[in-house]
Amino acid sequence: PADAPSYVTGSKIRVVVRKRPMNKKELGNHEIDIVTVDTDDVVSVHEQKVRVDLTKYIDRHRFRFDQVFDEDCPNEDVYRCTAQPLIESVFQGGRVTCFAYGQTGSGKTFTMMGKKDNGLYGLAGKDIFQLLRQPQYNHMHATVSFFEIYCDRLFDLLNNRKRVEALEDHSSNIVIHGLKEFDATSVNDIIAAIDAGQNARSTGTTSANADSSRSHAIFQITLKTTGKGGRGEKVVGKFSFIDLAGSERGADTRNSDRQTRMEGAEINKSLLALKECIRAMDQQHNHLPFRGSKLTMVLKDSFVGENCHTVMIANVSPNSGSCENTLNTLRYADRVK
Ligand code: ADP
Ligand code: MG
Repeated sequence: PADAPSYVTGSKIRVVVRKRPMNKKELGNHEIDIVTVDTDDVVSVHEQKVRVDLTKYIDRHRFRFDQVFDEDCPNEDVYRCTAQPLIESVFQGGRVTCFAYGQTGSGKTFTMMGKKDNGLYGLAGKDIFQLLRQPQYNHMHATVSFFEIYCDRLFDLLNNRKRVEALEDHSSNIVIHGLKEFDATSVNDIIAAIDAGQNARSTGTTSANADSSRSHAIFQITLKTTGKGGRGEKVVGKFSFIDLAGSERGADTRNSDRQTRMEGAEINKSLLALKECIRAMDQQHNHLPFRGSKLTMVLKDSFVGENCHTVMIANVSPNSGSCENTLNTLRYADRVK
């Protein structure tokens, strides 16, 4: 963080794009790669189209973002350009939120969780614990929580997927009643929490158990002052990582069963509310439409205030079959920035 780029003090919102590599199945199907990273901040989608006279042509769509990462870019580089420069600000009382947006299979979980500890969760954890060991921060400690939002309901992934409630208190703070928070002192604690949560996500016992593409997963690392002599702890800052529901699910509102339509409508609603809240962050007016969904409600304290920063990582698949979803993702990300 010593060489934190200038945007840390500039815009509160940073939007980047990450392209994943073509996979074996796509190559086997002779699909082509239609996404090119032109420069470190420009990405193009080469849409294949057919005219009425059946001749083929390419419609090229160009987008500019704060940064674009190609398929060879490792998680460490994505981390260095997104979450890492904001770590110190959490120690100074900041709220930092990092979203992975994109269709199912585009690399959201790969980015957030990675293999072992090289996802954003673990990389941020490493830096946070290193800072916590420094003398000027020895009055602080970290806690973690992990929950998911499925159909506008909250489930605690660190407590057998127990249902928990987000409530607004007298000072209009949002509190998640009943959510478990665990002390964490090392990256191993983070990995253990993620493993447990991931397990709960896929094997929960309730009938309303969602597959991961239909729920938002929220992993939070909270810094607190360590209460002395029995006095209460105080929250210093918070890091939130959100592995969003597959963005294509928001379109699941037709030609499907009632449950799938309902899920699609909820996802659509929450992704729209998220876009509105992020857009409102940069504007000076005070109205924040956080009540639009549970997702934006639980993140309310991370949208308002001087010291709030948001990073949106728009993940895209490169294959021709994903063209429409890729364009939708880039358009969404474009509107947020
Ligand atoms: P999502 O969470 O968006 O549904 P995943 O993160 O599960 O997608 O990624 C789908 C597949 O693609 C996984 O097998 C994952 O390992 C692989 N993958 C995603 N991004 C990358 C990348 N940048 N490099 C290599 N493999 C990737
Ligand atoms: Mg995933």
